[in-house]
Amino acid sequence: MKILVVGSGGREHALAWKLAQSERIQSVFVAPGNGGTALNTYLKNIPITDPVALADFVVQEQINLTVVGPEVPLAAGIVNIFRDRGLKIFGPSKEAAQLESSKDFAKAFMHRHAIPTAEYQTFSELQPAHAYIDAKGAPIVIKADGLAAGKGVVVAMTLDEAHAAVDMMLSDNKLGDAGARVVIEEFLVGEEASFIVMVDGKNILPLATSQDHKRLLDDDQGPNTGGMGAYSPAPIVTPQLHARVMREIIQPTVQGMAKDGIVFTGFLYAGLMIDDQGNPKTLEFNCRMGDPETQPIMARLKTDLVTVMEHAVNGTLDTIELEWDRRTAMGVVMAAAGYPDDPRKGDVISGIPEETADCVTFHAGTTLNENKQLITNGGRVLCVVGLGDTVKLAQKHAYDTVEKIRFQGAQYRRDIGWRALNKKH
Ligand code: ATP
Repeated sequence: MKILVVGSGGREHALAWKLAQSERIQSVFVAPGNGGTALNTYLKNIPITDPVALADFVVQEQINLTVVGPEVPLAAGIVNIFRDRGLKIFGPSKEAAQLESSKDFAKAFMHRHAIPTAEYQTFSELQPAHAYIDAKGAPIVIKADGLAAGKGVVVAMTLDEAHAAVDMMLSDNKLGDAGARVVIEEFLVGEEASFIVMVDGKNILPLATSQDHKRLLDDDQGPNTGGMGAYSPAPIVTPQLHARVMREIIQPTVQGMAKDGIVFTGFLYAGLMIDDQGNPKTLEFNCRMGDPETQPIMARLKTDLVTVMEHAVNGTLDTIELEWDRRTAMGVVMAAAGYPDDPRKGDVISGIPEETADCVTFHAGTTLNENKQLITNGGRVLCVVGLGDTVKLAQKHAYDTVEKIRFQGAQYRRDIGWRALNKKH
């Protein structure tokens, strides 16, 4: 079996690492990959990103199946291109990917299918957007309609911030086309959790639950980032809440897409806000796995991922069950100097230990320089995943390794896992 993983982040390193563990695997290609996938003798980096060129490569190499990590190629239609050529690929079509690539599409969809989410309205003109903000008051949330690499959401605590966010998107065009329309929505209070499932068109297979840490600094302070750490499972998602999210959010989404004439295949990620009564609402949909959630989730998956992917592309996810390591997995992200605004590249990385039974380091923004030294090459550089019988032990295993790794200006949070640690078991 030959598999191609599309992407270059920590999520793709974790997926490729897990696929390569299968006894059924012959080769795992990663396009374009990163320094970590380059150093792994079981993985092969391919310097191609164009979807048509990737499809050519798949045909030429006789690759059996492709898995797509990031949202950008999905929104650009990589799945449509592959399917038109009869190639097996796991991910949503361009049409289905609108659940992530247009917040207005997602909100209208949820409204139409009675899926719980924040109240909202969409605007493309300044004056009515400002008037709506004045009518609703602060706090309020302003979201660019299109993909903005995590920079398109402003949680405005004051009216001034809200008006400024609208101006930034609609009048100053700071986010380009992505901000040409804005969704303005009700501010929700609660605890966030990531709920990720695999969908083969009709069957839904939930993955283990997880929680991310969006803010740069300890105590959830500082700017929003792509995610500074995540752990799995998320204790807030009790079996009862899990059943409710499946019934009220995930199933109606998959069925609703089918009713609207768009069959959903791929990973479906619902970002949830759970209020203090335990009621879940959907903050957003992603049509791919989360990063960094994938890293701890893959570290816990015991089932052969090649077999899971085969069922996913063949429409038989109803015939398998996933087996999970019972331990907690905790991923701590190490980011480059200057992240998130202006991450510095080129710092030499040292001290990454060999993988052990209770710790594995996944790479994201890394590459090899001309001397084959590992250097930083992006905002989030590494995600160190510790495993342990308790949340505390998983945390210790992750941080013991983090403290051994060195690069100039490394930034990481010291409190990843605080919510899970505070939960009574
Ligand atoms: P991602 O990088 O996860 O794809 P995104 O840019 O698509 O993010 P959202 O996930 O919709 O944006 O929002 C980013 C963050 O903003 C959320 O994780 C949450 O912390 C906060 N947020 C979004 N919507 C709301 C809301 N209605 N009420 C309160 N906070 C919100």
